[in-house]
Amino acid sequence: MYKIYSTQTQKLKLKSWALLPLFLVACYPSEDLNVPVKDADSIPATELDIYIQEEFIDKYDMAIRYRYVDNYVNPGERVAPPDIDNVRPMLDFIEDFWINPYLEIENGEAFFKEHVPPEIIFLGGLIYNSDGTVTLGTADAGARITFTNVNGINPEDESWVSQQLNVVYHEFAHTIHQRYKLPASFETISPSGYTSSGAWFTLTDEEALRRGFVSPYATSNPNEDFAETVSFFLFDKGFYENYITLEEDCTDIDCEERNEGRKKINQKLNAIIDHYEKVVAISLEELRAAIQSRLG
Ligand SMILES: [Zn+2]
Repeated sequence: MYKIYSTQTQKLKLKSWALLPLFLVACYPSEDLNVPVKDADSIPATELDIYIQEEFIDKYDMAIRYRYVDNYVNPGERVAPPDIDNVRPMLDFIEDFWINPYLEIENGEAFFKEHVPPEIIFLGGLIYNSDGTVTLGTADAGARITFTNVNGINPEDESWVSQQLNVVYHEFAHTIHQRYKLPASFETISPSGYTSSGAWFTLTDEEALRRGFVSPYATSNPNEDFAETVSFFLFDKGFYENYITLEEDCTDIDCEERNEGRKKINQKLNAIIDHYEKVVAISLEELRAAIQSRLG
């Protein structure tokens, strides 16, 4: 799963949201709740569906769900499907920035086909949680990756692009430790830096860095740490500058602590790169270069 702590505005929004699900459930006649979802096969195939069939299902065995998205989130979570006009541009986006970089690198195509989840879900907006966090994307044991905020699509907007790439590379990285475990001794690199359950969002980015983590969410447990480190390495243009290269001539303890954190992140990165080479014969450095060249 991938989460961020919402801003104050989002938190305020959440308060009015929080009451809605109960209200709506109460309003539905109960029989509606048990009506099975229409079989997707009974809907006439549109041009979009044919495109999905040819480009995603036939090629990668990967279904794209953009209708009846309520079926793909937890009960009680309210989500909206994407506007139909945003689906094709979103498909183009994931092809350009997620699928095609794998096709360019050694062993990448075979790796992608072998590990890609069978279902991709597009949600129109975000998923708001009761603890004030926002879920940006989820992955369920390698079976499904959920993209949120598809209606916010704007490939020119760096923050939207970063959010989507963070999610997809994060979620896809989970399949690696789910199938092949974490790199040996990964959990011993910054053992005291992990936060107690549900407390990751009390940390700032700077505090996370000092502990040896690329983000506050990475401190939630070693699996999230692994996924976040892989993802940041792949999509973040400034990864080396932000998380690896040591600041010179430190004059205060904060600077020294940031550098200590960077050394730990460097150790994790090396362990992760070796692990990918060993278990799936993929060079993450080559993949990073392929992604970065598309980001310009
Ligand atoms: Zn995760």
